[in-house]
Amino acid sequence: MWQKWHQRYTQNLMCLKLSTQHYQALLEHATKDSKLECCGYLLGYSQQNQNILNSIYPMRNAHSFPQTHFAFVPQEQLQVFHHCKSQNLQIIGIYHSHPSSPPIPSKEDLRFAYFEELSFLIISLQYGINLASYRISHNHTREERIEILGNSLR
Ligand SMILES: [Zn+2]
Repeated sequence: MWQKWHQRYTQNLMCLKLSTQHYQALLEHATKDSKLECCGYLLGYSQQNQNILNSIYPMRNAHSFPQTHFAFVPQEQLQVFHHCKSQNLQIIGIYHSHPSSPPIPSKEDLRFAYFEELSFLIISLQYGINLASYRISHNHTREERIEILGNSLR
């Protein structure tokens, strides 16, 4: 089903750019404990509709059902804000994994739909590894392109 989403929602210029090293780091985090959802922030900067990743900031999953949900720890969120300020970086997105479901935002995920500027990256481990990234605003979800070192992944 998500392939259809892919075709329908990649017809825009929005894009998340990352390096091979970032890609590997994200996979490592997602597969470290592959039964549980991993989560974290994507840091970098925005240029027009492109979010360019500079570093990933892994977070603890504090949700009481981490198999299918994720939640950030408020104290850790403050640390991210301080880190960004000192490193002159922006939060450009949020990532998390889906151990046993496709890379489609769940209803619960849509609670993060505050800022369309943020990339909402999902790493699905359901059938091998599948990444998809979205821009989510109120009741409006669009998939964006993911580029790794200038090559389009999807
Ligand atoms: Zn999710």
